[in-house]
Amino acid sequence: MNHIIFLGDSYTWGEGLELFIEKDKWIKQRKKISNYDDLIKVKDEESETFREQNRFASIVAKHFEMVEVVNRKNGGSLSDNFKLLEHFEKKTGMSSVNAIIVQLSHFYRTPIHLTSNCKCTFCKTLPDYPISSIIHDIVENNSNDFNKNMILNSFKKTEIDVEFMDWFWKWVNWIERFCYDLLEFKLKKYEDMGIPVLFIDSWDVEDSYVHTRKYIVDRIIPLIGDDGKLYKKWVDFEKSFDGTFCINDYFKNTNNHHPSLRTHQYIAKSIIKKLEEIL
Ligand SMILES: [Zn+2]
Repeated sequence: MNHIIFLGDSYTWGEGLELFIEKDKWIKQRKKISNYDDLIKVKDEESETFREQNRFASIVAKHFEMVEVVNRKNGGSLSDNFKLLEHFEKKTGMSSVNAIIVQLSHFYRTPIHLTSNCKCTFCKTLPDYPISSIIHDIVENNSNDFNKNMILNSFKKTEIDVEFMDWFWKWVNWIERFCYDLLEFKLKKYEDMGIPVLFIDSWDVEDSYVHTRKYIVDRIIPLIGDDGKLYKKWVDFEKSFDGTFCINDYFKNTNNHHPSLRTHQYIAKSIIKKLEEIL
């Protein structure tokens, strides 16, 4: 059996897709707030199967008569993705892998030492402690918002001195560069084995800029918008849908902003188009 590996976060995992099941249970659920924590409480075998079969990864793999490899766990940091890759390599030797698709997320989710296996005192005390938590702790803000402006504003409210702030941002920028250098280094190893690597832009506007990196630019998948045009930037792809892009656009009470069933089909179509050019 041939495989395609999909690395990403909740977008790749297919969060919220079960809300499109046309059955009473899910039609009722659409009227409530339905984020991950809410959905996990009401999931069942049917909803798990529906989510897994309708996410873009499965549509792509099915098209090529291959099997998709997706992290079982929702969410996703770079360290989770490395773990999945390395685990699969150990198990199979990668000879069955035809492509690696990386849906870029947000580097703040990555643990400080870039792996959840780090044995240092800090990581042993706080395993899987992401960079975002360090930022939150420093600015004493418990929000899950990763926006840099929000963090800067929180800094202004606290009594952290300017010198520290300056040092802190240098550290964040350094670690961000290091994260993507490491990602590039790890993925090149698989390219050397003859496995193509492709990227999907990050949904996060601020992280989207990493695609000025030549390695990523050269491997980005143009996404087919609702207007039929091709978009390399996620934000432009999203705009082309005019209010039918995310789950919340269909079911206003869910507050779930993950891609809709239809958007998953568009992402799949875009990946298939790109893979057909190179495979
Ligand atoms: Zn560590």
